[in-house]
Amino acid sequence: MKFSDYSFAPEIHKSIDRLGFVKPTDIQYKSIHPIMRGEDVLAIAQTGTGKTAAFALPVVNHLHSRKRNARRPDGIKCVVMVPTRELAVQITDVFNEISKDTLVKPFCVFGGVEQDSQIAALQDGVDILVATPGRLFDLVSQGYLKLHRVETLILDEADKMLDLGFIKDIKDLMKFLPNKRQTLFFSATINKKIKELAYSLVKNAIRIQISPKDPVSKNVNHSVCFVEMDDKRFFLERLVEENPESKILVFVRTKVRAERVQKAMERVNINSLTIHGDKGQKDRLKVLETFKKGEVNMLIATDVSARGIDIPGVDYVVNYDLPEQADNYVHRVGRTGRGRNKGTAVSFCSTEERELLAAIEKYTNNRIAVIEIDKKDYSETVDFSMDASSDWKTLLRDAEEESKKSKVKKPAKRSAKKGGSSKKRR
Ligand code: AMP
Repeated sequence: MKFSDYSFAPEIHKSIDRLGFVKPTDIQYKSIHPIMRGEDVLAIAQTGTGKTAAFALPVVNHLHSRKRNARRPDGIKCVVMVPTRELAVQITDVFNEISKDTLVKPFCVFGGVEQDSQIAALQDGVDILVATPGRLFDLVSQGYLKLHRVETLILDEADKMLDLGFIKDIKDLMKFLPNKRQTLFFSATINKKIKELAYSLVKNAIRIQISPKDPVSKNVNHSVCFVEMDDKRFFLERLVEENPESKILVFVRTKVRAERVQKAMERVNINSLTIHGDKGQKDRLKVLETFKKGEVNMLIATDVSARGIDIPGVDYVVNYDLPEQADNYVHRVGRTGRGRNKGTAVSFCSTEERELLAAIEKYTNNRIAVIEIDKKDYSETVDFSMDASSDWKTLLRDAEEESKKSKVKKPAKRSAKKGGSSKKRR
């Protein structure tokens, strides 16, 4: 089936053409018709499958078909709840693109920024509101937002909303929403808690599961190499050298690790960016933009900061540290091989991480192919690194710098934020 076979309004077809979509992805094929019929949908689909357009196309098409002028006397008709600000912005971009030739108005609100400008925009009227649950609840309980006209409620990445502790906000918000509504529930992973939430919200939902036994996108090639913790940076350097034009997203366990890996790359003249919870909202959006545009080809991220973000053309996802929760592996590798593109996921697994690897393989029901590195190759990678010769000196210097910083920091400097580097890669 092609998109041209769908009975969307001409304005929506125009957007689909502009986006360059020809055929629906699996999730789109399975969910667009039920959504158009007004049914509830419960979908287990990982990121990168095209789920945003799966709900945005029928929703915008429906609202557009009823809209005769730009006024919005009835208020918000569709609410999309999402876990993070980045995802809110990204989903709103898709809604904006699809609504471009219509009178439908999408808008997004999220926490961590002043609410005044958001309130002003809401007063002009909005048809589709994309929001993080916390900010949405604040605005509703202060009376700036009314949700009694909402016809469609969408929960995207519901599993992450629960991980981030949004359950209470979501439940509290239900009191403000009409009972008679369409609910579309999307989650990349499923467990008891998610099921409970889903069943409390949807009614006789159409259940859609994309690759039930293989939650990881089929477009991604997976491999693992056994590399000791202290040697990982040399292998990352080698990956960049062998793929100088590739866009690489590197996942690490903590903010501190992100900064350290960036430093290690800087020492061998590889330019990279970092994104993690210590960075302000503006900084994070700027980093994403720079990486999206390809001005810098390596982004080092922690799990939470990179949730759900859609960056076109990521060639490699590197699990520099294996995730402690197996389901995060699915979220991470979902950043590549998006839509109909192909991608590669490489994991660096140290001796102490072998158990994490086993948990990932169990969770994904898949054996990850091992890239064998023989001893000679391994030591050559380490020895030939530009970093290796000066290594002990650099490590000492870093240790010295860090101890100086922590001494100065102690009483007052806690809130000082580090900025991201954006030096040019060699
Ligand atoms: P999502 O899972 O919604 O974040 O989408 C992942 C990526 O797939 C985005 O970059 C979309 O632009 C792309 N995409 C979505 N649907 C299609 C389609 N039918 N054909 C090609 N690319 C698509």
